[in-house]
Amino acid sequence: MSQDVPTTPWICHVCETSGIGESQTCCSCFKVTCAKHLQHVSSYNPETGLYQLMPICLDCAIRETIQ
Ligand SMILES: [Zn+2]
Ligand SMILES: [Zn+2]
Repeated sequence: MSQDVPTTPWICHVCETSGIGESQTCCSCFKVTCAKHLQHVSSYNPETGLYQLMPICLDCAIRETIQ
C-alpha cells in the first residue's frame, strides 16, 4: 500500500540521474534534464522583439553547435 507521493520522481535523459521535486525540461527536445546538463541560452524571439532565456539540454546544445 502506498500513499500518493507529493512529488514525481524524474530522471535526467543525459546522465540518468534521478531526483524528486521540480523537474526541468529542455525547450527543444522536451526531455527531463538535470541542472548539470541544462543550460540557459538567450534566444531572440522575433515575435516579441526580446531576448529570452531558453532552457536547453547538453544534447541539443551540442547538436546546434555542430549544425
Ligand atoms: Zn544529467
Ligand atoms: Zn534537448
